[in-house]
Amino acid sequence: MMTANRAFHVIAPPPTPNGDLHVGHLSGPYFGADVFSRFQRLRGSQVTSALSIDENQSYVVTTAERLQEDPKELVARNYDDIRRTLQMAAIHFDTVGRPDEKYTRFVSDFFETLYAAGSLIEKQVQVYYNTADERYLFESYIKGRCPTCFDSTNGNICESCGHPNDPFTLIDAGPVNSSAGKDGLEIRTVRALFLPMESYRARIKTFFEESEQHIRPTLKLLLTELLQSPLQDFPVTYVSDWGIRIPFDGLESSVYNVWAEMYPGHLYWLKEAGRTATEKSADTLSYVQFLGFDNSYFYTIAHVALAMAAQDAGLSVPVASHFITNEFYLLDNDKFSTSRGHLIWGKELLSKYNADAVRFYLAYTNPETQQTNCSLDTMTAWIQTNLVDKFEKIRSVYNKRVGQGVITGQGSPEWNSWIQTFQHRFELVYSPDTFSLRTAAQTFVHYMDLVEDQLVKTEADRTSAGIGRAVAALALFAAPLMPTFASRLAEELGISGHLSWKELPVIGNVRPLPPGLITLQALAASTVSSSS
Ligand SMILES: [Zn+2]
Repeated sequence: MMTANRAFHVIAPPPTPNGDLHVGHLSGPYFGADVFSRFQRLRGSQVTSALSIDENQSYVVTTAERLQEDPKELVARNYDDIRRTLQMAAIHFDTVGRPDEKYTRFVSDFFETLYAAGSLIEKQVQVYYNTADERYLFESYIKGRCPTCFDSTNGNICESCGHPNDPFTLIDAGPVNSSAGKDGLEIRTVRALFLPMESYRARIKTFFEESEQHIRPTLKLLLTELLQSPLQDFPVTYVSDWGIRIPFDGLESSVYNVWAEMYPGHLYWLKEAGRTATEKSADTLSYVQFLGFDNSYFYTIAHVALAMAAQDAGLSVPVASHFITNEFYLLDNDKFSTSRGHLIWGKELLSKYNADAVRFYLAYTNPETQQTNCSLDTMTAWIQTNLVDKFEKIRSVYNKRVGQGVITGQGSPEWNSWIQTFQHRFELVYSPDTFSLRTAAQTFVHYMDLVEDQLVKTEADRTSAGIGRAVAALALFAAPLMPTFASRLAEELGISGHLSWKELPVIGNVRPLPPGLITLQALAASTVSSSS
């Protein structure tokens, strides 16, 4: 059915190691990237997936100040916590890297090539300086109102409207973590490097027109809005001592903007992740970028321009072929907030509840095109009704059918065509252009309903021999969203070998299924499959 040998490079933005991951984080790009990668591997595609942490981010510094902790220690602690939480959620990347010397060298080489090629321009710009803390203000060091949507924001990007800003133009700007408040503010002129974005605008427009990507509505609006007017130059450097130091004359007290660093950073981690994979030649290679909508400007405009500049400078670098965004996930109808303590930590939720069940709920309620809400009570009730109870009904009827001679066999033509219809639907909702976790979860619920219905009817209709094929397909269809449940079910059904999308699984053992294959409560650690 599928002969093309496809390869995917899958990337999600690096989490900032100033805290562990909460459930809002878990609903976003990491989960999407994991489900996508699992599905593509099931269908035989080559997948290389990479994640890292955003160690050089200014938010690390401001959080460390608030916690009165050494920033390096804060990073080390959260790097461990983040990896553990991802593992608890069965979210797998081939690498979850932490910047080191080799990484720093790779990123520096990238910008030195651009600098030598004349792709970066040097400008004198006005910035706020806080005399009390002797700090130039950008990103997490400054707050004010967004000049585009007037919501309160930090510097450089507004997470409400997604528009970039020059921190100097924030309305009612003031420093963060400063006892002196606005009294310490002073205007200074500094030198910095920029990517002249306006010279790439027409090419970026053409890139999106020609690539015919399916882009979700809010990103489409943002791209249309941003690309219809001249683009601001993108800052590649800031005056700061936290980050990767810059070797160029007159910029020795500057570091690279982490949002610029991130593009070559992703290429580095993909390269590292690829070292462990057996890369065969592929007919097509797609670069799939998962991201939160609030980071869209950086990924879809700034990184695309950086890639173009690098290609012009002779570097062989990719531009993402797919951008898959998500919106904010709300908790009890309010934004997740670490500072206000309005959150559920991923590790707390996952130590109490079954990771597969949580993943299924996160998919079903995923904020893929608009903000969606979760609450603990709704979540547990929904999982019990739509997953645990439904599967329990299937199990109970299946166990009655064991010994009635209707489990094995070729299956009726009607059933086989239904399974194929579902299989095609799953292929669509897991493909990069039409990826939808919500539809995947809904489709799975509908499949469970159909299986239960048909198992019940089989009693009166012995022509349905082969009903076991439908239950075996359940294991296959569950695999991207609920990997542990899928592998436990496959094992109980005696399905031989790995589950594969290319061939529908066949039941090897006709015996009653044990209880507890999918539960609301967390499984004992020994039963959780850590495999990808
Ligand atoms: Zn805004």
